[in-house]
Amino acid sequence: MSLRALLIERIRQDGPLSLADYMAECLLHPVHGYYTTRDPLGAAGDFTTAPEISQMFGELIGLALAQAWMDEGRPTPFTLAELGPGRGTLMADLLRATRAVAGFHDAARIALVEASPALRRIQAETLSGHTPSWLDRVEDLPDRPLLLVANEFFDALPIRQFIRDGDLWRERLVGLENGKLAFGLGAATPQAALEHRLPDTRDGDLVELCAPAQTVTTELARRMAAHGGAGLIIDYGDWRSLGDTFQALHRHEMADPLASPGEADLTAHVDFEALALTAKNAGCAHTKLTPQGIFLERLGITARAQALVRGRTDKEAKSIIHAHRRLTHPEEMGNLFKVLGLFPAPAPPPPGLEP
Ligand code: SAH
Repeated sequence: MSLRALLIERIRQDGPLSLADYMAECLLHPVHGYYTTRDPLGAAGDFTTAPEISQMFGELIGLALAQAWMDEGRPTPFTLAELGPGRGTLMADLLRATRAVAGFHDAARIALVEASPALRRIQAETLSGHTPSWLDRVEDLPDRPLLLVANEFFDALPIRQFIRDGDLWRERLVGLENGKLAFGLGAATPQAALEHRLPDTRDGDLVELCAPAQTVTTELARRMAAHGGAGLIIDYGDWRSLGDTFQALHRHEMADPLASPGEADLTAHVDFEALALTAKNAGCAHTKLTPQGIFLERLGITARAQALVRGRTDKEAKSIIHAHRRLTHPEEMGNLFKVLGLFPAPAPPPPGLEP
C-alpha cells in the first residue's frame, strides 16, 4: 500500500490530520518516509545544502566551535553534536579543519542525532576513521558540555498552521475532497500558545507553530546552561514568521505538498524568535540573528577561498569562487539563511555572532 493510500485510509477512519501529523508521516514513516528511505541531497536528489556546496562551510563552522571550546576553558570531555547530519559532510569537514586544535579531538565525543537509517549508513561511511554515536532524539544527549551545529534540521520539524478568526484560531488540516487529499479548516478555538501573536496579527492571518523545535531547543539550552558549550543553528527563516511557509521540493523544483506524500521534501521556515525565547526560558543566552553571508565573511570565508584557489586550474578556481558566491551573496543563500547562536552567558558568544 502506498503512503497516500495509508493516509487516505487513516483520514477516513479518524478524520483530518494536522499539518504536523501529515508532515511527520511524509518525512519519517518507517517504510515510506522521505528521509527514512533515501539520500535526498545533491544533484541527483531533491535539494543541495551549504556543506554539499563547499568544504569551506564545515571548515569555518568547525573553527568557530573550536574557538568557543577554547573560550570556555577547553572542557574535557564534551559532546560534539550535529542534528540531522545528512551525508556527514559538514562533520567530516569540521573534523579535518580542527585536527590542529590541540586537545579538541581527544576531548570530543561525537554524537549524531539522525532519524533516517539510510542517512546513518552514509554518515558512517563519510566518518570512517572516527567513532560517532547515533542518537534518535536530542533528549538522549548526555549531560556534559555541548558544542553543536544544526544546518537545515529545524526546517524539517513538523509544524501546525492556524488562521486567525476574531480572537480565535482555525487550524489548517489535511482531509479528503472527492477521495483526494485536500486542505481544510478546523473549528475556531482559543490557542494559548498563540496568545502572544494576537497583538501583531489580523483577522485571516496565518501563523505557524513548531512544537518539536521548542522541545529540541529546551533540551539543548538546558545542557548548555548547566554544563557549558555553544550551539549554531543555521536555517532559512526569519525572526518572526507570518504567513504560509509550508513547501515541498521535488527534484530541485517547488511542488504541491499534497501531491506525492513521501516523495518530496517538506519544510517550513524556522521561526527564530520562538527558538530564542525558548532558549532564554531554559536559562541560555542567544545571539542576534545573523545572515549566513555576514556570518561566513566574519569567519574569514574570503581568505579561505583565496587559499583554496592557489595552485588550482582555472576550472577548479572558478568552481571555488562560484561556491563562495552561492554561500554568501544576498541574492543566493547569503540572506535567506540565518544563523542563531546559543551560549551560556557569561561565556562570550560564538565567533562571528553578536550577543
Ligand atoms: N545537515 C545536512 C542535512 C540536512 S537535511 C546538510 O546540511 O546537508 C535534514 C536532516 O535532518 C537529514 O539528515 C534528516 O534525516 C534529518 N532529520 C529530519 N527530521 C529529523 C528528526 N525529527 N530527527 C532526527 N533527524 C531528522
